[in-house]
Amino acid sequence: MNIAIISIFPEFFHGPLNVSLVARAREAELLETTVVDLRAFGAGTHRQVDDAPFGGGAGMVLQPEPLANALAPFADTHRVLLTPGGKPLTQEILDRWATLDSLTLVCGRYEGVDERIAEHFIDEEISLGDYVLLGGEVAALAIVEGVTRLLPGAVGNARSIETESFRDGLLEEPQYTRPAQWRGWDVPEVLLSGHHGHVEEWRRQQRLERTRQRRPELLESGLGEPDELE
Ligand code: SAM
Repeated sequence: MNIAIISIFPEFFHGPLNVSLVARAREAELLETTVVDLRAFGAGTHRQVDDAPFGGGAGMVLQPEPLANALAPFADTHRVLLTPGGKPLTQEILDRWATLDSLTLVCGRYEGVDERIAEHFIDEEISLGDYVLLGGEVAALAIVEGVTRLLPGAVGNARSIETESFRDGLLEEPQYTRPAQWRGWDVPEVLLSGHHGHVEEWRRQQRLERTRQRRPELLESGLGEPDELE
């Protein structure tokens, strides 16, 4: 899969794209990343890419022409604008994108991006959550990580993906490792029982209970298993 990222801060990505699973996926050629410096498309000696908003107001807006030119080589890809005004990112969206050949992520800065870019050059607008960040770069990295781990062969144990939070509309159950007794706190006995059926049943109940307590809206959305909560 090819992921292109358009940003005025290409250096932002040097570290994160070169560590852990993302680096390994790139080495294994499961993932190819291209970071495009938006400033290279800016006007004049200062490579200007922003200007004051029409109608007045605080801050600057990224101009349409540099963005359109930066996006031109990616016209055939699925183009995503990162913006707090977009659809909240979900596992479902990442699942869908992980099946694509290519994805282009546009990072805004300042007050955002000229609306004509969103209207005419973007396929989907996505938000990382209901808060405002400085720029789209962190959101782009979240997407790179979220998609990469879904690429076939990227994660050693594929089962770990199948059993994770949101996969069945539920949060994952609590996890424990050695030692079984630690500072006076014990691991739930059932996990030491060696009884596979009991362990599975405990895990299922924990997923339901945890989701009911922390994210009841997931159950209300019908993705989980509300009938089993009684
Ligand atoms: N004026 C914008 C508003 O009120 O919606 C916020 C602009 S924000 C300071 C600058 C850029 O950061 C945005 O264009 C977007 O690319 C990115 N950004 C900020 N928060 C984000 C979020 N929650 N999800 C995705 N991108 C975000």
